Amino acid sequence: PFDVLVVGGGPAGASAAIYAARKGIRTGIVAERFGGQVMDTLGIENFISVKYTEGPKLAASLEEHAKEYGIDIMNLQRAKRLEKKDLIELELENGAVLKSKTVIVSTGARWRNVGVPGEQEFKNKGVAYCPHCDGPLFAGKHVAVIGGGNSGIEAAIDLAGIVSHVTVLEFMPELKADSVLQQRLYSLPNVTVLKNVQTKEITGTDKVNGITYVERDTGAEQHIELQGVFVLIGLVPNTDWLAETVERNRMGEIVVDRQGATTLPGVFAAGDCTNSAYKQIIISMGSGATASLGAFDYLIRNY
Ligand code: FAD
Repeated sequence: PFDVLVVGGGPAGASAAIYAARKGIRTGIVAERFGGQVMDTLGIENFISVKYTEGPKLAASLEEHAKEYGIDIMNLQRAKRLEKKDLIELELENGAVLKSKTVIVSTGARWRNVGVPGEQEFKNKGVAYCPHCDGPLFAGKHVAVIGGGNSGIEAAIDLAGIVSHVTVLEFMPELKADSVLQQRLYSLPNVTVLKNVQTKEITGTDKVNGITYVERDTGAEQHIELQGVFVLIGLVPNTDWLAETVERNRMGEIVVDRQGATTLPGVFAAGDCTNSAYKQIIISMGSGATASLGAFDYLIRNY
């Protein structure tokens, strides 16, 4: 069996596996797609100590670093079930069952898409999902934020300090964000809030040049010229496959303690699939290290 079996090959999983392998214990990674969300990222400017890198390049470095320690990387394999017997058993979609003394779940999350024409086409060409990551790229420009919940309004407030103008589009007749955020938003001079509107299309040529929406009460179609669209309608953790094995919060995020331990002894979790307050590469790597040291601590106490 493995000593530490990591599920997920993004920044959290790679970091967890490297920390484990450096203890000289048997470590494996099962990943549906090694690199994770980083593979979908173009420029990365907030991975501290690296001024600029690109997603696929960072993913390649993660893999190279992991291979340095002889970690068994099982790429293109999806975990579908976890069960604790004497050991922890991880069943893969292909039917194989892997056994390990500890498991670190780092299956990440995915941004919910609005699913309108132009969204896929202009990803990384004006369509963005992370204001902390991509906000500065739109300095002095006009951008839209789709989504009037907490994440959308936080993004709008954040972006208003960088860009020339922010237009918020909310599908419902009212914003869902906390009232303190709404007050802050409405106090800003360069923000327009459109409620009860449905985004119809993100337009562009080689990059985004506008957004088309429908006023839901009148049915009238409107178009605004702008250069960026931030989609903030929810981040969904990839944790459904865990069912009831570990505690998850109402968003589906795995609840972890300060050592990265879940409610099931021997199972740890890290990164965007957990209830961490913020979802970033550097934060995921830190929590991967935490979970790994937590798992090592568990091993020396229980085996
Ligand atoms: P992920 O990167 O999501 O990795 C999850 C891993 O688990 C993947 O290998 C996946 O294939 C695997 N997996 C999922 N389900 C299963 C399963 N059932 N079985 C096996 N494997 C599974 N952050 C920054 O700090 N700076 C940026 O500039 C930045 N830009 C971003 C741009 C975009 C477009 C996106 C989408 C995100 C960006 N982020 C950025 C956020 C950052 O990518 C994430 O916070 C980070 O990747 C989370 O790491 P993670 O390891 O927790 O999860």
